[in-house]
Amino acid sequence: MDYDVIVVGAGPAGSTTAYHLAKRDVNVLIVDKASFPRDKICGDGIAPRAVRTLYKMGLQERLDGQFNKFHGFRFAGAGKSVVENAIPPTPRFPDHGYIIRRVDLDRILLDHARDAGAEVWEGTEVSGPLVEGGRVVGVKAVRDGRELELTAPVVVGADGPHSPLGKAMGLLVDDPLYLGVSIRQYFEGVEDIGDFLEIYPEKVISPGAGWVFPVTRDGVANVGIGYMLYHIKRDKINLRRSFETLLNDAPHVAPKMRNARPISPIRGELLRVGLGGSRVECPGMILVGDAASMTNPVSGEGITYALETGEMAAEHILDSRMGGRGLHIDPGEDSFREKLVERYEHYFHLGILSIKWGNRSSFMRPLLLVVSKRRKWREDLIRALMYLRH
Ligand SMILES: Cc1cc2nc3c(=O)[nH]c(=O)nc-3n(C[C@H](O)[C@H](O)[C@H](O)COP(=O)(O)OP(=O)(O)OC[C@H]3O[C@@H](n4cnc5c(N)ncnc54)[C@H](O)[C@@H]3O)c2cc1C
Repeated sequence: MDYDVIVVGAGPAGSTTAYHLAKRDVNVLIVDKASFPRDKICGDGIAPRAVRTLYKMGLQERLDGQFNKFHGFRFAGAGKSVVENAIPPTPRFPDHGYIIRRVDLDRILLDHARDAGAEVWEGTEVSGPLVEGGRVVGVKAVRDGRELELTAPVVVGADGPHSPLGKAMGLLVDDPLYLGVSIRQYFEGVEDIGDFLEIYPEKVISPGAGWVFPVTRDGVANVGIGYMLYHIKRDKINLRRSFETLLNDAPHVAPKMRNARPISPIRGELLRVGLGGSRVECPGMILVGDAASMTNPVSGEGITYALETGEMAAEHILDSRMGGRGLHIDPGEDSFREKLVERYEHYFHLGILSIKWGNRSSFMRPLLLVVSKRRKWREDLIRALMYLRH
């Protein structure tokens, strides 16, 4: 075998997996088709739960003072008013998050994996898994125009929501209940932003939600909108038109955008949510992050779960050595999915139910108005939305 572990995809999930394995002296290769720094379509909101994991990886000094921190949330209040609340204090999570463009965050994480000892191949596209007797034993890749076959007893698919590896092994489940679509654009000259993640399920874009995330304190923001796929199909939603409506007519967003100028194209991407869009493992391979359908169905936040499943995958792989058989993935023996289910399924299941039945402004707006009346209720909402437990 060429390597102990091959990780495909150098987003947050892949780089975190590779970092934890390399730190424990595993011979790990991480490959990505892109050359870094590279852009990734995202809202760039790094929630407190994700910050906890980044700090645990020793990245606090790298982030502190370099990127915009937020300390609270803004939601729509009655009429055009806005409800603000600080991130509630908890013993386990920091009192802040960040907004970091993915062009920066993903480069920092990949450098961190490289510094820990992982071998990194950028500009290397994986065309599929190498399979022997139903077991994944490596990957086929193209590097500098040359076709290569790379072998390892364990392959990690951290290859995002379209997961070519998951697809080739029949692990992806294309159920619209577990698929979302979001688009985003960067603007400058956005008014009245700075210290808050602003999330607005506005009536004019129902049943979607818009966001305004401040990348800098002087008016640069990531603005976007997201829907579940079954809402798009059911209500025949045109995403670009809804985005225009958010920018021009949504009572809590339009006033901020009066003098704003776009500084990037509008770009969109698929999200796999709630652990229901993928089967996550087969002999020789596990999936992590978006490939494992690990985006939060309510908030659309996936960086937290990409980082956490990356760390869990590294532990799972290291544990496989315990029987004396060397590194291996055998779902029948010890299931990675069961570990994910134990930690997240209850929370994600409630999320799926709440967006399925409650994601309409006629329900959401009155609920938010009631919740906004008491600080305790507002804090409970933030804890629930950001999974600030465990
Ligand atoms: C519009 C939008 C807004 C979002 N906003 C937020 C937010 O504000 N906060 C948040 O937490 N989450 C957000 N998310 C979700 C978040 O972007 C994802 O959950 C997160 O990027 C998942 O990380 P990952 O490492 O699993 O996959 P990715 O970040 O997608 O990384 C996958 C990597 O695999 C590589 N790859 C793919 N195929 C191949 C191949 N064949 N060969 C080699 N390499 C390959 C890609 O180049 C990529 O680098 C948003 C998503 C969207 C679409």
